[in-house]
Amino acid sequence: MDEIFFDKRALELKYQMPLGKISEFFKGLENGKIMASKCVDCNEIYFPPQANCPNCIKSKIEWVELSSDAILETYTIINVKPTSFLKYPDYVVVIGKLKEGVKVLSWLEIDDFKKIRIGMKMKLKVVKREENYYTYEFYPAE
Ligand SMILES: [Zn+2]
Repeated sequence: MDEIFFDKRALELKYQMPLGKISEFFKGLENGKIMASKCVDCNEIYFPPQANCPNCIKSKIEWVELSSDAILETYTIINVKPTSFLKYPDYVVVIGKLKEGVKVLSWLEIDDFKKIRIGMKMKLKVVKREENYYTYEFYPAE
């Protein structure tokens, strides 16, 4: 096998996003709540939140706090990481289906990857990453 040269440098990436109509989502995270947008006309719930309903092409939305109860639908273990996550040990990204019907993509906090099962019960919680931003993660509920 050919030798490979690795060059490892820290990359700091700063960006600004206009939050506009979904600022409630970020306010919710700071208060420990995971909020989804719901169309007032057709009752469809969107997560990640959307300011406009693709069904109705309307912008009348309200905010609902999601339950934390989910079922693991699928997962993958990440051992080849993006540069910004190199300092983390291997981690698991899952898709969890909440009882509201929305699917959430996030990390699963678990001590042993052998415990992961399709269909296992999970809970969703707000976490603050050491990079100083709020996000959400699943953890096993059983
Ligand atoms: Zn709608």
